[in-house]
Amino acid sequence: MIKAVVGANWGDEGKGKITDMLAENADIVVRFQGGANAGHTIVNKYGKFALHTLPSGVFYDHITSIIGNGVALNIPLLLEEVRSLTDRNVPMPKILVSDRAQIVMPYHILFDQYEEERLGGKSFGSTKSGIAPFYSDKYAKIGFQVSELFDEDTLKEKVERVVGLKNIMLEHLYHKPLIDPDELLNTLHGYRDEIAPFVADVSSFLYKANKEGKTILLEGQLGTLKDPDHGIYPMVTSSSTLAAYGAIGAGVAPYDIKQVITVCKAYSSAVGAGAFVSEIFGDEADELRRRGGDGGEYGATTGRPRRMGWFDCVASKYGCRLQGTTDVAFTVLDVLGYLDEIPVCVGYEIDGEITTDFPVTYKLEKAKPVIEKLPGWKCDIRGIKKYEDLPEKCRNYIEFIEERIGFPITMVSNGPSRDDIIYRESAIKA
Ligand code: GDP
Repeated sequence: MIKAVVGANWGDEGKGKITDMLAENADIVVRFQGGANAGHTIVNKYGKFALHTLPSGVFYDHITSIIGNGVALNIPLLLEEVRSLTDRNVPMPKILVSDRAQIVMPYHILFDQYEEERLGGKSFGSTKSGIAPFYSDKYAKIGFQVSELFDEDTLKEKVERVVGLKNIMLEHLYHKPLIDPDELLNTLHGYRDEIAPFVADVSSFLYKANKEGKTILLEGQLGTLKDPDHGIYPMVTSSSTLAAYGAIGAGVAPYDIKQVITVCKAYSSAVGAGAFVSEIFGDEADELRRRGGDGGEYGATTGRPRRMGWFDCVASKYGCRLQGTTDVAFTVLDVLGYLDEIPVCVGYEIDGEITTDFPVTYKLEKAKPVIEKLPGWKCDIRGIKKYEDLPEKCRNYIEFIEERIGFPITMVSNGPSRDDIIYRESAIKA
């Protein structure tokens, strides 16, 4: 049984917590896209951790953690992350890295910085982790696959060829120091020796595991609105954030993904530039940011303060639809307990017309939020285990949103820990 856990919006919806929670009854967790540019925050008995490359199941000793072929693999960062867990008494996780994953090269990170510098004010708000240059090279067919580290002649020839090309850009476009091919080859030998114990034929491992009835979770990074095709282009990431891509980035059959759990936060937040229709500012935003998530809404990788906004039914309905949602996990609801009234964005006004359909970017930039206010429940809902025990106004908020997005909210998360979860039956069918 394969399940995907993905985001409906900009990311930071709480996918890490939901994956970590579901991993209790799973066997394998797979990262299938993205790199170390975003992170998950997980709170458990070992403490609080920010994961960037490792899947969220690494804290359980029954889980095999997999880096799929679709991931941008930063080898030194992966190994550092493993050490950061074992240093804090987390047992050494079982990790497999796809032999078809490609490697984030040291120059990808440099090119990311140089390009942002070159673009100045017109930059895409990159986290400068090398992700865009990495995926550009992958599709330009000059990327390095993990398997290629083990074929010395081909590796050497390719390093020389690719460095030749990169050095032209470094010299003439960016006016920066050139790459020494021998030094790069040495670095890659180091990568090869360090990654060797983990390398595996992941798609065949997953095929067998699925046949044997194992439970496999595909863990997405970011959310629908950052998808290069269906997101707010060009303010997107460089690999698909959709559950459908899980089939490609892990190497499994699309029809084997039986459940798509789309994580949706009870309010909105975003990092980086780009349209954000339900955004709020000033004191109102500061308060939500301070109270948000678990210890404030600041990026897990960058520490950047997130932009804040009210729940956006238009974006979330679209976000859930593109994911192919079977279940919505509605998270961080406890945070809203301080509000007398909770504004919700129920539509967009674009050129005088109101719509609930999420538009393409140039129209989105003109959209103004249509706001409806719902009464707040004014109490702490953490610790509640049953849906019926939630305050009525809180249930109304959930049901209002469920109806507007049109996908069943079957899980409500009311705190950062694994057991802060309320399961519910929904009248809506996926
Ligand atoms: P991800 O990238 O989607 O995994 O999201 P992040 O981990 O970056 O952000 C979610 C933040 O919210 C983390 O700090 C979590 O610990 C926290 N979190 C997740 N679910 C809940 C919840 O239901 N309530 C509260 N208060 N915090 C939560």
